[in-house]
Amino acid sequence: MEAVKSYKIPMDSPRDLIEEYFEVKQKALTSIMEHVRVSGKAHLDFRREDRKRLRDELLQNWRFSKHYVDSAINSVIGLVKGWITLYNRGKTREKPEITRKTVYIKNTLFSFRNGVLKISIEPNRRYLEVDLSRYEWVPKDFDKIGGLILTEKELIITVKKNVEPEAEDWASLDVNLTNITALIGNKIEKYDTRDLYHIHRVYEVKRKRIQKLSKIKPKTSETLLKKYSNREKNRAKDFVHKLTTKIARKLREMNSGAILEDLRGLKSRILNGSRSKNRKLSKWNARQFQFMLKYKLLWNSLPVKYVNPKNSSKTCPLCSGRMAAYEGRSMKCEECNTVIDRDVVAVLNLQMRGAGFPQRALNELIERERLRMSINDYVI
Ligand SMILES: [Zn+2]
Repeated sequence: MEAVKSYKIPMDSPRDLIEEYFEVKQKALTSIMEHVRVSGKAHLDFRREDRKRLRDELLQNWRFSKHYVDSAINSVIGLVKGWITLYNRGKTREKPEITRKTVYIKNTLFSFRNGVLKISIEPNRRYLEVDLSRYEWVPKDFDKIGGLILTEKELIITVKKNVEPEAEDWASLDVNLTNITALIGNKIEKYDTRDLYHIHRVYEVKRKRIQKLSKIKPKTSETLLKKYSNREKNRAKDFVHKLTTKIARKLREMNSGAILEDLRGLKSRILNGSRSKNRKLSKWNARQFQFMLKYKLLWNSLPVKYVNPKNSSKTCPLCSGRMAAYEGRSMKCEECNTVIDRDVVAVLNLQMRGAGFPQRALNELIERERLRMSINDYVI
């Protein structure tokens, strides 16, 4: 199995390459779009000889390494094919556009020796050298480097490692609107995510204010909305990054894999009827959280598994009876009258579903020392 991580390295990118690559992509797009047939189902009729002709044309006056032209053509073909799929589903009528000035650097264009990346810019005379050891956040324990992407301000580097995920123990983690509840080493832990919720709230207020502006100044408001939405995403991602790093470190110490909810079943369970905006938010947070935690765990050869979360906050972990909302954030079992914090109910059920023993086996588990202690902390 391959674990993958990506890192950004701030960079003064070669402006000339960035600009000329962008131009070449624009030309390639115009030319390749002429090969899209739209009678009936749209498809691309771009043959080998067409590609060769385009390549030769683009290589005229091209002083950079030739592989850049190949990568530009490939990336435009990918763009056009993606567009055709959308077009055929009736999801777009507008022609595709290239908006970002990014350069994809194939692995034939760089070498990596003694910690130094050497990227060919112009054949045999101009290189971009990056000493990766200067960037302490880039791990040293990778097997190979995947593709590189150069933007105007940064180099995005993808590193890969072969892993065989294995764990002695399983932790389960449940994402809620204002906390993440976890069962780690038979102990309940709650991670406060109110700050994350707060970030989203702040931007929601800003968005509302801008929307009022949209009738008078539509262009300005659109630009502002985009700017704020990017900022919101970045701040939220930053929060989730820090949290998942902390949790991944803890799981590594415990040599524990993670049981997560299969988010396809999320809609029915989470947030118990609160407003749809919160639900969307929570789903976004849960996806981000799971995605980041997963790749951080895999990098350390720790496995991740997904379980169906259906009714996981409504089923009694002690007797499988139905649980109903009780005071505050707690749930009460209609069969055995046990009262447990709602988030703890969910995480115990995830644990049982993922660690592979049947529902009623928790009774036994509870008899065993440690879990009993920690559950009792939450039993009112
Ligand atoms: Zn019960």
